[in-house]
Amino acid sequence: MDNDAFVLAPAPRPSVAVMGDARRFPVRRIFCVGSNYAAHAREFGADPDRDPPFFFSKPADAVVADGATIPYPAQTGNLHHEIELVAAIGRGGANISRERALDHVFGYAAGLDLTRRDLQAEARIRGRPWDLAKGFDHSAPCGAIKPAGAEHPARGRIELAVNGALRQQGDLSDMIWSVPEIIAFLSGFVRLEAGDLIFTGTPAGVAAIVAGDRLVGSVAGVGSIALAIGPASHF
Ligand code: MN
Repeated sequence: MDNDAFVLAPAPRPSVAVMGDARRFPVRRIFCVGSNYAAHAREFGADPDRDPPFFFSKPADAVVADGATIPYPAQTGNLHHEIELVAAIGRGGANISRERALDHVFGYAAGLDLTRRDLQAEARIRGRPWDLAKGFDHSAPCGAIKPAGAEHPARGRIELAVNGALRQQGDLSDMIWSVPEIIAFLSGFVRLEAGDLIFTGTPAGVAAIVAGDRLVGSVAGVGSIALAIGPASHF
């Protein structure tokens, strides 16, 4: 369908760079896993033995490229970093089995699940949705995707430094739900399609960032993500 078919010019398709390829990964939906590392769940008073991980989502156009500077978001005084392994879906499916789940993965990246922690805390107390705490503009920085081939990372260091100081560290093997389990569970609720990104949860050490901060995160064997926080945005 060409653009003459629409009453407005369609928004550009959000996309993420692919390592070793001039072509980009077109983003369809962004899903996220909450409380997928026990030590992080305990940071927020959850009992990882009793409260299993869960899903939420962000809009596709929240993706931000590696190396970008984003404005400090409006309507928050407590913006937090969460470094995460991102799984990029290359082939769709519903009710995918754990055994076949990795066949659906195109590749992996390091990403940041940026969070308005103050809005999230209020939403938790009031039993309200997290959308504006999690799904705001520029809330999903994502590094270049490394095509998986036969390599699917199940262990390896994941870490984040802010202004050169280490803030978060963990190991992928600490994830409560593994990538195959995440894909199996999530595809029982929604049909996954090529282009979906899944942010798989963050290790302990989440904390506030402010204008002027420089973040560098990495996932061993996968890639990295750099981000700078600029002055507050104004509407
Ligand atoms: Mn997260």
